[in-house]
Amino acid sequence: MIDFELEPQVLNQLKMYHMVSEQMMRPISRECDEHEHQKPTQFYESMWSASAAASNIQIGDDKSKKPDPSKPSAPRRANLLTVLSTEELCWGDAGLYLSTPNSGLGGAAVMAAGTPEQKERFLKRFKEGKPKWGAMAITEPGFGSDSSAVTTTATRDGDNWVIDGTKIFVTAGQMSAEKSEGFVVVWATVDKSAGRAGIKPFVVEHNTPGMTVTRVENKLGIRASDTAMIVLDNCRIPLDHILGSAEVRKEGGFKDVMATFDATRPIVAAMALGVGRAALDFVRDFLKQQNVAIRYGMSPRRLSAVERDFMEMEVQLQAARLLTWRAAWMLDTGKRNSLEASMAKAKAGLAVTAITQKAVELLGPLGYSRKILLEKWMRDAKINDIFEGTQQINMIIIARRILNYSSKELN
Ligand SMILES: Cc1cc2nc3c(=O)[nH]c(=O)nc-3n(C[C@H](O)[C@H](O)[C@H](O)COP(=O)(O)OP(=O)(O)OC[C@H]3O[C@@H](n4cnc5c(N)ncnc54)[C@H](O)[C@@H]3O)c2cc1C
Repeated sequence: MIDFELEPQVLNQLKMYHMVSEQMMRPISRECDEHEHQKPTQFYESMWSASAAASNIQIGDDKSKKPDPSKPSAPRRANLLTVLSTEELCWGDAGLYLSTPNSGLGGAAVMAAGTPEQKERFLKRFKEGKPKWGAMAITEPGFGSDSSAVTTTATRDGDNWVIDGTKIFVTAGQMSAEKSEGFVVVWATVDKSAGRAGIKPFVVEHNTPGMTVTRVENKLGIRASDTAMIVLDNCRIPLDHILGSAEVRKEGGFKDVMATFDATRPIVAAMALGVGRAALDFVRDFLKQQNVAIRYGMSPRRLSAVERDFMEMEVQLQAARLLTWRAAWMLDTGKRNSLEASMAKAKAGLAVTAITQKAVELLGPLGYSRKILLEKWMRDAKINDIFEGTQQINMIIIARRILNYSSKELN
């Protein structure tokens, strides 16, 4: 049974995240948006120190942890907690949330594809020392949506893998590759003739010779987050940096790409919820100041256009939220959630773009001005409909799963 009732200690944790949003993110939101490549180091330090308290937050389903039969089993909620905290922090600022030092998408890939020993070895750094970042690089200049088209190669040479290729649009790429003791998980093929089965994830440590950040993007939104192009040229890494097995099996590495997305799509959906809720809360407060009441329970025929618009925004946000919670809950309970993760991501991406655009529209010139953050949230919203699978790609995945088509039959 799905149970979304939250324990008091979880509610307290969420209150703390809300305070972080209000007191640490919002005050620097505009500044970080206007100076895209400036780093809010004080913010990073504070978030890193605070993250010790939240270090039990887990991305993905850690199948290596076996339940202890001698203890009563508490419900597993790590993924649900992650989406709840993500919404709360993205209510503050989605770009700053993405730029916060943590294992990020790189950590999600390690969790999805790594052995228990690798999870321990690669992830323990995020609980100690100075702030660090993790990133994941799949996208290349020649493809984005079709992640089976990886052309970056990993060639075995004695005790090393040698990686060659170019990766683009890597979130937290610069911080992970060059500016901290983090790592980048690079997806590369060990055997081009094997197609999808040959694609494997490799952990490339920060400052490994042969890995260079060649560009940091200028973007429409989430401008506090760095998005990098990374070139790998004769980049040598140890043999045991391949995540999981090097064996090329039929379903093989591509299954790990998909498992990573199953864990991260609900998080992106939660990011969308945070931005959408920020816009909705702002509009609610604004309408209140203007003495415009939202009359719930009234016949739709008698509502004003503003009331109808506002209620529609609320409905869309809540529908997206329930899908997101369901996708995370399924991950927590070990259920396959590919369909639900894509549904949550597709719905939330659409909802947040519509909600923020409508919010700007409802406030007119004020909404469009840089005096307030609504126009920024409208710009921050769109990425949720692009990365981790675009709207169209997620709709295709949903159709495939519902109609039971393979990727060859429906693409
Ligand atoms: C800010 C930002 C951060 C990112 N972070 C990362 C990251 O950390 N790591 C990483 O690996 N990548 C990252 N990406 C890349 C992102 O995942 C890709 O941009 C995304 O998957 C889309 O790929 P593409 O840009 O090549 O678009 P394309 O695949 O070229 O698609 C272009 C358009 O065509 C549509 N389309 C494509 N195929 C189909 C189809 N079969 N049917 C219908 N429509 C289709 C798409 O939906 C899209 O609208 C990031 C991108 C951005 C902008």
